[in-house]
This record gives sequence, structure tokens and C-alpha cells, in this order.
Amino acid sequence: MLEKILNNGFVKGITAGVAGLLILGASVDANRDVVSGKTDYSVEVVQEAKATTALPYEHDCPICKGTVVGFDVLGTGYSGQETDFKRICTERSEPPRIYAFAYCGDCNIALYGDDFEEFNYDGDVMLRAMEESGIRNTIKDLKSPGLVEEARIAEVCYTAVGEPDENMAHFYLLGSWLAQDCGDTTAEKDFQRKAIPCFGYVSESNPGEWEPAYLVGELSRRIGDDETARIWFDKTKGIIDEEIPEEEKEWYHSFVDKQILEVELRGLSETEYIKIILEDEVPNTRDIAISKFEGNDLETIARRALQEVVLNDEYDLLRENAMGILVQNVREDMIPFFVEALQDSHPRVVQGAAYGLGELKAEEAVPTLIKRVENEDEYSNINYMVYLALRQIGTPEAIEAFDKAVESGVLHEWDIKMMDYDLEE
Ligand SMILES: [Zn+2]
Repeated sequence: MLEKILNNGFVKGITAGVAGLLILGASVDANRDVVSGKTDYSVEVVQEAKATTALPYEHDCPICKGTVVGFDVLGTGYSGQETDFKRICTERSEPPRIYAFAYCGDCNIALYGDDFEEFNYDGDVMLRAMEESGIRNTIKDLKSPGLVEEARIAEVCYTAVGEPDENMAHFYLLGSWLAQDCGDTTAEKDFQRKAIPCFGYVSESNPGEWEPAYLVGELSRRIGDDETARIWFDKTKGIIDEEIPEEEKEWYHSFVDKQILEVELRGLSETEYIKIILEDEVPNTRDIAISKFEGNDLETIARRALQEVVLNDEYDLLRENAMGILVQNVREDMIPFFVEALQDSHPRVVQGAAYGLGELKAEEAVPTLIKRVENEDEYSNINYMVYLALRQIGTPEAIEAFDKAVESGVLHEWDIKMMDYDLEE
């Protein structure tokens, strides 16, 4: 059943774990990724990374008795969550949701893999709906449809048998994540649009739960329906006031307030965002303005503003977010900045600085890099990144320091393999 898949760890849904995950164990990661997503330079992420393992297994198609291949996902590596609760996979992991659906090449039905195994539906109703929808004509290759196409077929099947709103809400949300993973923005928005009313119904029948109401707001925000977003974010805050224990309220409120701010700050000019980054007194507001530069080619003035944040903002989270954006925009004239940031107290800022210097093959930074790690005799994420930079820069002095770290056991064989991998990319 849908519900089973959603709750058995295949896709961590909205129900049990999410709030706990955000608050407890993974709070730092979750917050970071909720805010900015990318952590490319982070060695911690690399260290946690496990490639996704999925094993194929065969089902009998309950409709046509053909053979269907499904997948059991055995493990994957996560590094955080987005604001619609989509779990972000580590760089080396595929999102397990790509294995969610199975497809029968004979009767062209697609369902969650488990639903082929424990089939509790009327197959004729599904087949008839498939005929009437004409969806087969829209699939490029009926023998092996794409992931988003499979989701679209499954949508026809589940809708036809009247799957409850709650299941459809999760289905559409999963579909939007899958479409996003596949870079299909049109399908992503389409699934989000369809998920909204479903979560609205779920919210009405579960008035004590904040997540469905929040998702109506968040998905509305994502499709650009600001008015609906505001209404449902306010409603979410009302539920939080009623239902969440006093000591946790503040965190939840600030989480939702941030999304409200996202709506308020939509569509400002870069100059206005820069002004906010440098002058606004509310950290959440500064953070949102910082995130607006994510994925952009940065103008000099924006880079200066972000560098200012990295070196001087009072919040480490904002400083690392700004660094995360800067390391995707490394330029020659940033070397002095990276050298300064190398002395920082926040590990992620130091890692970013080392990464930047390595990428720029900044020979003049070699003495500073060596100095940063020479008194440490144990492996750390900072050491890893600094030695990686030294290896990348590759002057005799840098290589000598690197070799010494290998000899003394600060770097292990495993670390060097990781570096080989990092340098290939
Ligand atoms: Zn079949």
C-alpha cells in the first residue's frame, strides 16, 4: 500500500519522523539544507556518503501475469531536507525515490513496487482508466518509460481506483520530488499543484497536525501562489500555537516565518538583496537574501557582500551558507579572502577556504595552508580539505607536506582514495 511505502523509510513522509529529524539528530544539516541546499565543499558529507544500493526483484503482474521488476532500496546517504521535506541525498547517492515505481511492460501499468506484490485494487478499473486517458499515446517509449512518465501512469491508476486523499497527497508530493530530480520543472509544478488540494483535505481531517497545513502553504509558495501561501502559513502557525509544546514553539514559528519571509522578499533586485545581506537586523531575512544568490554567476559586488558575511556575520549558519555560494564562484581575486577565511573558527568556513585555494591552485597560499594543519596529528575534516588543496596546488613544498601527512598517518589510504575521486570531478 502507498501508506506502507511512505512510512517504511523508503520515502520519509510527512507523518512521524520529519519534525523529530529537523529538531533532533540532524538539526544542523537539516537547517543548513533547508536554507541553502548545496554543501558541495563539505567533507563531512563526503564522509557520510554511501552510494544508494538497490536490489532488483521480480513480481508477477496481478493484472496480466507478466513479469514486473521492482527494486528494494537497501541503503542510501542523506545530507538534509528541503523545505517541502524532500530528503536531500549526499553527492554520491541516487535518490531512492527513483526506485519507487515499478512498471509492467505488457499491460503498461505502473504502481509503487509493493503494490504489485500486494495488489488490493480492481485491475480492470485501472486498465479501463488507462484506455480512456489515452496516456499510452503520450509515452515516448512504452517498453521502458521514463521515471516521470511512470509516475504519470501511476497517477492515472491510483486516481481511477479512488485512492484516499491522504495517499494521493503523498503520491503527488513524491511525484514532484521525482520530477525535480529528473529536471522536469513542468511536471514538478504540475504534481505540486495537484498535491495542494489533497493536503488541504488532509489538513481539514487532521486539524491538530501542522505538517499538512504547512505543505499547502509551502507548495503554494513554490508554484507562485503567494496569497494561498500566506493564508496557510498563518493557519500553520495557529496549529503550532495549539499543538506544539511550549519549549519547541519558537523553533517551529521561526521555521514557518522564514517561509513567509520568502514570500515577502520575492522578486527584489540584486541590489536590494545585497542591502539586506549587509544591513538587515533579522538573521532570517539576511539568510533568505543570501540564498537568492545560490546558483548564480556572481557580480563582484555580490561576491564582496557574501565575503563580508563569511568574515563578519554573527551567525555561523549564515557564514557557512555564504561560503557555500562563494565556493561555486571561485575567482583569482578571492585568494586574499580565502587566506583570511582559513584562520576562521568555524570548520565549514575553513573547509570552504581550503577548497577555494585548491581550486585556484593558489601557490602563494601554500605556507598558510601548511601552517593551518602542521600541528595537528589526527585526521579531521579541515585537515582533509587542506591537504586536498595542497595536493591540488602541487608545488614541491605542498607535496612534501602532503607526503608527511600520509607518512605520519594523519591521512589514510581511504582518504587518498576519496581525494582521487574528488579531484576527478
Ligand atoms: Zn501487466
